Amino acid sequence: MSTVLLIEDDAESRRMTAELFSREDWTVIEAGDGEAGISLALEHRPQLVLCDLLMPRVNGFQVCRSIRQQLQRTKIIIVSGRDYGVDRASAIEAGADEYLVKPIFWENLREVIERVMPAPADGPGITGRLPDFMPPSTRLKFWGVRGSIPVPGSSTVGYGGNTSCIEVRADGEIIILDAGSGMRELGIALEAEFGTRPIKLTLLISHTHWDHIQGLPFFLPAYNGNNSMRLLGYRGADEGLAAILARQMEPSVFPLSLRALPSTISIEEQKEMAFSIGKVRVQACFVHHPGICVGYRLYTSNGSIAYLPDSEPYPAHAAAERAKLVEFLHRADVLIIDAQYTDDEYQKKVGWGHGSLSSVVSLGLDAEVRKLFLFHHDPGRDDRAVDEIVESARMIVLESGKPMEVDAAREGSEVWLGAHLARTP
Ligand SMILES: [Zn+2]
Ligand SMILES: [Zn+2]
Repeated sequence: MSTVLLIEDDAESRRMTAELFSREDWTVIEAGDGEAGISLALEHRPQLVLCDLLMPRVNGFQVCRSIRQQLQRTKIIIVSGRDYGVDRASAIEAGADEYLVKPIFWENLREVIERVMPAPADGPGITGRLPDFMPPSTRLKFWGVRGSIPVPGSSTVGYGGNTSCIEVRADGEIIILDAGSGMRELGIALEAEFGTRPIKLTLLISHTHWDHIQGLPFFLPAYNGNNSMRLLGYRGADEGLAAILARQMEPSVFPLSLRALPSTISIEEQKEMAFSIGKVRVQACFVHHPGICVGYRLYTSNGSIAYLPDSEPYPAHAAAERAKLVEFLHRADVLIIDAQYTDDEYQKKVGWGHGSLSSVVSLGLDAEVRKLFLFHHDPGRDDRAVDEIVESARMIVLESGKPMEVDAAREGSEVWLGAHLARTP
């Protein structure tokens, strides 16, 4: 039998939630405030904690942080009457596995519980006290998914109009993949989340084409002296990384120079193709795109994420290069890849450096990727057209008989990686 700890100051809503769990044969422990909740959690080590966000004395964020520091396998679901993205992000950052908006019904609760506590394929079920060796989950969020140029407007509102930027939270690190125009919104969210606390992050740059760096001058945390950022990437074809990044902020094109930004920024040109960011191991690989462009694979303690924002399929005579790429991507949990063109469009744009739909799907299948995200959507593709390419991609997968999931990257959507799953909510 599994145990849940309910931490909620409102006795009536605590009683109702307790009833839901009891009916499903859970052992229920109750705490009327955050302080009691923390001590009961340490005493009983429940499989699940359901914690209200707004409570006097010790709030839900503090409870999360405290329990997470001491019990890494206990799953924590924050419940709140508020549906602010900032609250959700802060709760996840504090160590929550999920954030659920009230009112609570068993159907939505069960769906969330199944997601955060997937039943193991074999071996013992989740019973008794839990050992504390599971690391907190890895999360990624899409802030910009568009290729070439931002395209705001009503026809792109579903998938989003901002260019490449992805946030990854893993093993205590904040890692940003590319600095496209989506980075502006990410900066606003980070500032709201951290408040006066300093932000420390690493930006990985795939290459310095405009659509991958143009958000950097508008990244709010760069304007705060408390923050520090490492910018990692590779030397361009004709210039160093630092020189290229500084160039888009020269006086003729921007009012402030990169050097004048108050945050501590270190630009580090990578020489090796493998390095680490804290506990996250990073592997880079040169891809088929004009100039110098790399793809990254991040190995986190909850699975790996491969990111190939701009890459053209290798022609038939470059089979060895393709094989190397398949090896680089082999069994990635998530692959985010340039699928800018349909197959027909690609015929007219060979040599432009971008992917075609069937080639990226077959690459994913050959590499046995778990979940494929079509990315770097063409600026001319409206939401309906993106839906259509997703359908075509799924047909190819269906015909292959392989289990890969396919979706289109969507601005604002998040993906969690755990020991048993990688999914979008
Ligand atoms: Zn691009
Ligand atoms: Zn490019």
